[in-house]
Amino acid sequence: MTAIAAAQELFVQIVGRDPEGVWSSPGRANLIGEHTDYNDGFVLPFAIAQRTDAALGLRDDRRIRVSSTFTDGVVEIGLDDLDDLFPSHHDRVPEWATYPLGVAWAILQTTDTPTSAVSGFDLAIASEVPVGGGLSSSAAIEGAVSSALNDVWGLGLTAVELAKVGRKAENEAVGAPTGIMDQMASMLGQPDAAIFLDCRSLETQIINLGLEPAGLELLVIDTKVQHSHSTGGYRERRESCEKGAAIMGVPALRDLTIDDLTRAEKLMDDVTFRRVRHIVTENQRVLDTVATLAASGPLAIGDLLLASHASMRDDFEISIAELDTAVEASVAAGAVGARMTGGGFGGAAIALVHADDAVSVAEAVEKAFADAGFTAPHVFPVYPSQGARRDW
Ligand code: ADP
Ligand code: MG
Repeated sequence: MTAIAAAQELFVQIVGRDPEGVWSSPGRANLIGEHTDYNDGFVLPFAIAQRTDAALGLRDDRRIRVSSTFTDGVVEIGLDDLDDLFPSHHDRVPEWATYPLGVAWAILQTTDTPTSAVSGFDLAIASEVPVGGGLSSSAAIEGAVSSALNDVWGLGLTAVELAKVGRKAENEAVGAPTGIMDQMASMLGQPDAAIFLDCRSLETQIINLGLEPAGLELLVIDTKVQHSHSTGGYRERRESCEKGAAIMGVPALRDLTIDDLTRAEKLMDDVTFRRVRHIVTENQRVLDTVATLAASGPLAIGDLLLASHASMRDDFEISIAELDTAVEASVAAGAVGARMTGGGFGGAAIALVHADDAVSVAEAVEKAFADAGFTAPHVFPVYPSQGARRDW
């Protein structure tokens, strides 16, 4: 069953009538630009075909009732209780419910519309995005719910404003310190295209990927390794980046270019320097990828993906044996390029492959994992797709 039908069905089951509409937003993957977001730099994510759908109907009273196929039961609160719940008392509702309720809170905080001017609602959610699999099911649920509320409450926020609402909900209501890349990709995605995002200005440009005409496909290789050390490792990397920027006297590493690296090497310890070098070269690789796609098409970006992986493995030191194996085995089996994607210390890699080779690359990766004694990976294609929209 599609997520649209599942959300509709759950709504009817819980509320006993049809919803007013169904809105959806997709998960995302990042083509290139890793750990550059919090350095005010560049990223190039794309929305995937798997979506989260939110069926919504307004109520005559001031109650909010949310449900999801993700879990049993209905969470009910008063519209006027949102301000008591967030940000401090979010533990009074189950964690999953802080996403939709947090979006309702964040969207009202963002607009000039007083809470008294809107009415309560029933909401039913269903998703095709694997949860916690590095494809940002969190941005998908935020985008679906914010799009729905924006429409039914007549708030008139733009897609970029809704992305910010999603980030605010995730940072302040859920309490997860994430950037805005995921929400921007989920809101703004286009078929066969990536979103070139400047994380400082939030300016975006839709970049045509041209995968299908070139006979190419993107595979996700989920290593199934949970990023158990990611919290500590992520924080450490952020601190190194801040330290490097401070030593160089710039607001963020975004303000350095390749030419500054000679001076950086003289001024800082080896570890900090290598962290800085990853960010500076990765920003350049995002710019180079955008330029290469326009000039020569997707077949020509393989080396940039590989250089990105090497930089994360050797300079930023966030790869693990499973991710290195995924990249090496894909390339040995004919992939055009591959790299780990996401925060690191586990999670997934992506591989750019000739569509005809997709099955053999997947098999080669599975065999390499088995030979190394690793847990079997989950390998599947992802198709750059449309961002948030009304589905019904
Ligand atoms: P990721 O974004 O990588 O999938 P996160 O930990 O950021 O992982 O977000 C996953 C959390 O988002 C889930 O644990 C759950 O709380 C919430 N969530 C995601 N999708 C749904 C859904 N369809 N229904 C209810 N909650 C969801
Ligand atoms: Mg997430």
